[in-house]
Formats: sequence, C-alpha cells, structure tokens
Amino acid sequence: MAQLLTGKEVVESMNADLIPRIDALRAQGIEPTLALLRVGERPDDLSYERTAKRRADDLGLSTRNYTLAEDAGQELLEATLADINEDEGVHGCLMFRPLPKHFDEQAACDLLAAHKDVDGVSSASLAAIFSDKGFGFAPCTAAACMQVLDHYQVPIAGKKAVVIGRSLVIGKPVAMMLLRRNATVTICHSRTEDLPAMCRQADIVVCATGRPRMYGEEYFRAGQCVIDVGINFDEEGTLCGDVDFESVAPIVAAITPVPGGIGSVTTAEVLAHTVRAAERFITDHQKGK
Ligand code: NDP
Repeated sequence: MAQLLTGKEVVESMNADLIPRIDALRAQGIEPTLALLRVGERPDDLSYERTAKRRADDLGLSTRNYTLAEDAGQELLEATLADINEDEGVHGCLMFRPLPKHFDEQAACDLLAAHKDVDGVSSASLAAIFSDKGFGFAPCTAAACMQVLDHYQVPIAGKKAVVIGRSLVIGKPVAMMLLRRNATVTICHSRTEDLPAMCRQADIVVCATGRPRMYGEEYFRAGQCVIDVGINFDEEGTLCGDVDFESVAPIVAAITPVPGGIGSVTTAEVLAHTVRAAERFITDHQKGK
C-alpha cells in the first residue's frame, strides 16, 4: 500500500514554523494581516473564507473581511483593491474567484500589488514564476503541491514529472516550479494522446483535471508519487479526487488523499505567504523603500 502523503502532517509542520515568525513580527510592532476579499455569497467562497479565517485565528494571524455585493461594479472592486494596496496594515490579500461574470477578473487581479498578491493571481506574479525573475508568490495550490513533495522528501531533480492540466491556477505554475527544481516535465491535457502511457513513464504524476476518479490503475505503476489536486463530487455527492484512490493506492509508492491532501495545504500556503509578505514589509522598510 502506498505511503499516504497527508496534508495534516504538512500543515502541522508549516504551523510550527509560522507561529514563532508571527510572534517575532508582533515583537517588532507588525500585526500580520490577511485581507479576505469576497464578491457575492457563493457557498464555495463562504466556506473557503470561514476556513481561512479559522486557520488564521488558530495561528494568531489577523484577517480583515472586505465583502462586496454580488451586483457591485468593477469600479467599486478596483477601489477596494486600491485601498488594500495602500493600507500598510494589510500584508496579503486573498480574492475569492471566480468573480461574478460581469467583472473583468484579470483586470482586477492585475491591480493587486505583487507584494500583497499571496495567491499569485496577477500577471506580474505569474510572470515571476514563469521567468524565474522578479518577485511573485506562486498560486497557493501549486505551492502546496511543492510543499507536500518537499515535506515528504520526494526526489524531484532529474526525475520525470507529468502534470495533467494546463490551467494558470495549477497546471502551468506547478509545471514551472517542478522545472525550476530540475524535474523533466511533461504537461498533459484533454488533447494528449495515450495519457495512460504518458503517466506510467513518470516518477511524479500531478493530476489537476477536475474529473472525479478519472485516473485508474491503467495510468500508474509501482514506485510513483501521485499528487491528486482534484476536488470533485461524484454522482452520489461524495467528495473525491481525480484519482481512483481505491485502485491506485495499492500500486504506487506514495499518494495524496482527497480529502485530507493538497486542499488543506493550499490554505496553509495562503497564511505562509502572508507571513512572508509581512516579513518583506519590515525588510523593505528597513531599506527605506
Ligand atoms: P481547469 O478546468 O481550469 O483545468 C482543467 C485541466 O484539465 C485543463 O487543462 C484540461 O485540459 C484538463 N483536462 C480536462 N479533462 C481532461 C481529460 N479528460 N484528460 C486530460 N486532461 C483533461 O481546472 P483547474 O486547474 O482550475 O482545477 C483542476 C482541479 O483542481 C479541479 O478539480 C479543482 O476543483 C481542483 N482544485 C483544487 C484546489 C485545491 O486546493 N486542492 C484548488 C483549486 C482547484 P484542456 O486545457 O485541454 O481543456
């Protein structure tokens, strides 16, 4: 049976690192603060907002809610983002997405200052991840995949990695992050031919497709590490990943469960990035920026 790469263990280790850093920030007069920016009342957003706030409270990290009505206009959203950018008491901002359809989402994302863009949503943040130049936080789910691999000391350099999915939120950034760590990376998608063969030749397989239990035993072989990013509900309404855990776990070397895998680490990454943003704030001020 595969080693279970549980998010809980990773989060505990991240928290143990973050708590003294938060205390150190406070000792220097900085109250690390995350802005939670929500438009409308989507149940997914409300649930993510509650979880992020609870997890921040547990760590002693402050949150500030910015909530706009579903029918708010682009102008109000942009003014709110400008307030967040200017407010020295806010170090990071998580804007829940997708925004209602009438918003120009990318324009809004691009307004967020790079040093506060803790979920890597702006073009500038993504450019930094893709170019290895400049400053930008990685999208938190992509960062969570890397965090899990590192926590469990999964070898990356020189290994073959297959990432299934090419979204800007997960697939592409995680592929770039694996590449930066010297993996040989193949990005697969809905038009990839013979996906099972592609997956079987990899050492690390990241499934970020959004198809409930699509990846069964024919996609895998012994010795692989499988990162299941999918958060899906099957026909019975049961939460499940992209990977058919029951048939795959007995074959591979290591696998993340759903729930209890990448999802919980993603929220921890938001908080970790906020702490890093607050630390950078101090460093920048010391340099007189
Ligand atoms: P997108 O829908 O934006 O992208 C899905 C990708 O999967 C696309 O590149 C698509 O290919 C590819 N794909 C779809 N069907 C197939 C197929 N049959 N074979 C191969 N590739 C396929 O989704 P996201 O990247 O936003 O999210 C992916 C999953 O991750 C979802 O389940 C989502 O819920 C989950 N998620 C999990 C998070 C977490 O914290 N764990 C956070 C955010 C999302 P193509 O480009 O060709 O269409």
